[in-house]
Amino acid sequence: MKLTFLGAAGTVTGSKYLIEHQGHRLLVDCGLFQGYKNLRLMNWEPFPFDPRKLDAVVLTHAHLDHSGALPLLVKQGFRGPVLTTPATIELCRLLLPDSGHLQEEDADYANRHKTSKHKPALPLYTQEDAERALHRFQPLPFGEQIDVMPGVAVRLQPAGHILGASSVVLTVGGSTVLFSGDLGRPDDLMMREPAPIEHADHIVVESTYGDRLHEVNDSEDELGEVISRTAARAVSS
Ligand SMILES: [Zn+2]
Repeated sequence: MKLTFLGAAGTVTGSKYLIEHQGHRLLVDCGLFQGYKNLRLMNWEPFPFDPRKLDAVVLTHAHLDHSGALPLLVKQGFRGPVLTTPATIELCRLLLPDSGHLQEEDADYANRHKTSKHKPALPLYTQEDAERALHRFQPLPFGEQIDVMPGVAVRLQPAGHILGASSVVLTVGGSTVLFSGDLGRPDDLMMREPAPIEHADHIVVESTYGDRLHEVNDSEDELGEVISRTAARAVSS
């Protein structure tokens, strides 16, 4: 198996991992580069593989830095399944068309105010492109294992973080590779906690906040203070 980091390396957005095995190809996540212009420009560079020759995509969660380049992938010929949890599909139904809509609006603004050197300025993809990409989604509930391509099985496990977020467990031959995706906290008020890793031969882990410790505090107390402060303001105004 060959693993290539195509994003979220040296920066924290644009997550994309290419897995190649016995002549087949799989992508874990297909995110947009976000932030400064030099990063956003990377979204316009061609994929370093042929999207038509990709077998499948496995999506950890719906945030655009993990999912936002899927419409581009489909626009450029990808016809395989995008496997992810049912909740992530529901979120992508909202987020991806909205992302396309915003990009159309940005291009429109640039054309009206002549702020782009491109004439006309074009959207990276449109709302329609994003809606087309939604047809590629196939639900894979937590804990179910399926063969995603010859010699490679995939299973998703809860990662906390946001609704539907998962870590991806790939079994390739006799070994297991785990992609953490974005991880939540064990003591979150709303989200389930990340499932423990039972076994993995290799782990690819997100490390955006890897050099920081969470403050030890009580989220319920903090939320209570915010509610009390806001209510007091409403009464006094
Ligand atoms: Zn995220």
